[in-house]
Amino acid sequence: MSKVKYYYDSETLSYRKIEKKKGRKLSIFLLSLLGMLLSGFLLLLVYLNLPYVETPKEKTLKRELSNMQLQYDLLNRKMDVAENVLSDLADRDNNLYRVYFEANPISEEQRKAGFGGVNRYKDLEGFDNSKLIATANRRLDILTKQIVVQSRSLDEIASLAEEKEKLLAAIPAIQPVNNEDLTRMASGYGYRTDPFTKARKMHFGMDFTAPRGTPVYASGDGVVTRADNSASGYGNHIRIDHGYGYESLYAHLYKYNNIRIGQKIKRGDLIGFVGSTGRSEAPHLHYEVFKDNERINPINFYYGNLSPEEFADLLKKSQQENQSLD
Ligand SMILES: [Zn+2]
Repeated sequence: MSKVKYYYDSETLSYRKIEKKKGRKLSIFLLSLLGMLLSGFLLLLVYLNLPYVETPKEKTLKRELSNMQLQYDLLNRKMDVAENVLSDLADRDNNLYRVYFEANPISEEQRKAGFGGVNRYKDLEGFDNSKLIATANRRLDILTKQIVVQSRSLDEIASLAEEKEKLLAAIPAIQPVNNEDLTRMASGYGYRTDPFTKARKMHFGMDFTAPRGTPVYASGDGVVTRADNSASGYGNHIRIDHGYGYESLYAHLYKYNNIRIGQKIKRGDLIGFVGSTGRSEAPHLHYEVFKDNERINPINFYYGNLSPEEFADLLKKSQQENQSLD
């Protein structure tokens, strides 16, 4: 309720009511309407985000956004590099390491498994930069997956390498008697004349002629399974199990070098001394190599301590069909 205002009329000497003029009321109303429209229009401009009404906060946000896009571009470039390095590593893994250790190569599908079909990045949709962010996320996820696959493959290679190292140490790969101790390489693996019956028969080992007491060395890592003279013909002999199906046998020994059954032996360990016990014509070492219980030619294993020339010489001598010493 508006207050009723009065004024003092000096002519009539009395108070009188002030009557409001209708025209003035109307103009006040129009003015306030215009004000409202104007402020409404300004708010509309702000809402439409027009450049000429950009607030300082909006300017800051815009700068931040373009900086973020720049950072994403840089991140993508870094991922290019990481992807190239990893792909190079995967190539080497498949074509070199896994081939060398006889492991199957890992296929491209296995390396990137689980990244086809399903859209894992739905949550990232619906924004101006959705594609940028989803792409970067996807690339990083694939990279992570590939790193896991690659790392597992290298673990496998490492254990295969360790196994191969053990195998290489186990194989009977050196000559059991030093070259300088040999008087001659008497006889190799193959058909030879029997020194006692003079009949032609198979000689399943190699004979190294050396003076009695010449050191005999284990040709590979393994465990002693026999050291006795109860096998017919071999006399005092040692048998070593190298694992992986390989065994070696050293016969006609003069004596053992503190050897007992079950003893662990390293390649090159001194195990006994050359003699002529058992079915033997003269002091020599009769040496045999077994693979899966079959006797095989020991000459194929001397890559451990012979030069190519020495090997060729040994091969030539061992192939001469002479009389064995048994
Ligand atoms: Zn022999």
